[in-house]
Amino acid sequence: MKKVIKPLLLSTMLCSSLSFANSIEMPGAEAASKNIDSSEVMAHLHELQKIADLNDGNRSSSTPGHELSANYIAQKLMLAGYEVEFSPYTYERYEQVGTASLAQLAPNQVDYIEEDQFAIMPYSTTGNITGEVEAVDLALGLGNESTSGCEIEDFANFTKGKVALLQRGACTFAQKAENAAASGATAVIIFNQGNDVTRREAFAGTLGDETDVKITVATLTYDIGEALSKIEGLTINVQAETKVVESTSYNVLAETKAGDPNNVVMLGSHLDGVQAGPGINDNGSGSAGILTVALRMAKVNVNNKLRFAWWGSEELGLIGSTKYVEALTEEEKSKITLYLNFDMIGSPNYMVGVFDGNGSLTDFKAPKGSYAIERLFQLYFAANDQNNIELEASGRSDYAAFSDAGISYGGLFTGAEGTKTEEQAVLFGGTAGEAYDACYHKECDDINNINQEALEINVNAISFMALSFAYSTSAILEEQLAEDKPVISTVPESGIITSDIGHDNHHHEEM
Ligand SMILES: [Zn+2]
Repeated sequence: MKKVIKPLLLSTMLCSSLSFANSIEMPGAEAASKNIDSSEVMAHLHELQKIADLNDGNRSSSTPGHELSANYIAQKLMLAGYEVEFSPYTYERYEQVGTASLAQLAPNQVDYIEEDQFAIMPYSTTGNITGEVEAVDLALGLGNESTSGCEIEDFANFTKGKVALLQRGACTFAQKAENAAASGATAVIIFNQGNDVTRREAFAGTLGDETDVKITVATLTYDIGEALSKIEGLTINVQAETKVVESTSYNVLAETKAGDPNNVVMLGSHLDGVQAGPGINDNGSGSAGILTVALRMAKVNVNNKLRFAWWGSEELGLIGSTKYVEALTEEEKSKITLYLNFDMIGSPNYMVGVFDGNGSLTDFKAPKGSYAIERLFQLYFAANDQNNIELEASGRSDYAAFSDAGISYGGLFTGAEGTKTEEQAVLFGGTAGEAYDACYHKECDDINNINQEALEINVNAISFMALSFAYSTSAILEEQLAEDKPVISTVPESGIITSDIGHDNHHHEEM
């Protein structure tokens, strides 16, 4: 459906020096700029599906499913002439043993349904806790700005020995759980925030692999949480068996032989999936997408070095990418000019989302240079008559570590468990009021859970960005060197509509 814009046309459109490579200046670029058909990406996804089928239905980090996925990616890369590095790290791997339960014992007997209504938050401890429930600093209703449990003072009147009922919002889950535990709570229930339609459902969250909190934390839908908060004499029981195992996993890295090693352009996608399913949209899609682009770029005599990363243990708390950035020396960091992240690029009920690079949606300021990335995505889509929206990027996926390290970043995202709005249905088709990906983190995130139109739109955008930045990063470097000044958000071309979709941009939220 979307054709790749001709190099010449785009370079005349761009007033900055972000001109697109042409075959004279960068040998091999012309062939690599041809439209990628979604079937090319689907071929890789079929392989990842097969791997999951043969390995307990998943491709989670530190399992054979992940290992074989990494081998598959590496084999393709090596055949294309890349040297591939498996970069290992150790981490604390969380596992839930069997099913958990959450039940209301009084005043009524109600068993809640795991996954649909409640979940045990990763890095919770094993527990079988029965207790009276006490709500802490809730802020109910649409538009609420819950800070429930974020401050230790919230628990000033909390009765030791009770179960704390908290609400999502404003600070990390670990922060809330830590305050509750320090105040004598025996267990914690955190229900979804309910401030807008995208924060009502069941969710998992995470305490993070570095948490010191030793407590069982269950999460709940907003509706059930709100109802429970109004019940007098509420007693619940929560049971979960969990373990944390010292484990190893690895990131898969490959870079072009050609290109300036002091001006590195990185593209990354997490290769691991959740334990619940094969993880084809999340994130086989991004992994297969950058693999497709890497295979094409192998034949291009690039000016700047392209480095591709397939992160491990993302689903357990952005672990692989964090380990990678932490291990970089200052010098190595300074050589990475930008990082592009692709996580879920084929959502069935998709939007085309571009991460905000200049803080036009929030107070959060991405490192300088990020706006040039956002703008180039927008210009590319405008040139292809492709509607797209800006997404808040506050550092909640694998780009987080890069952002923290001050590296310019950007990326695309087609939506997870959040709900498509009427406005977005007009822009992208699909069904308003339904999730972008109803199979997000579920068993049904399989080969049928891909919208090939979305996949094709995204993979061609990735390919364009890779070619452009392989050719020149000068617009980013200029922005990085520019004096601080108020950034004026501009809507560069027709067909681009910005929209504040709040906290719905990413699924690996810590808050
Ligand atoms: Zn993901």
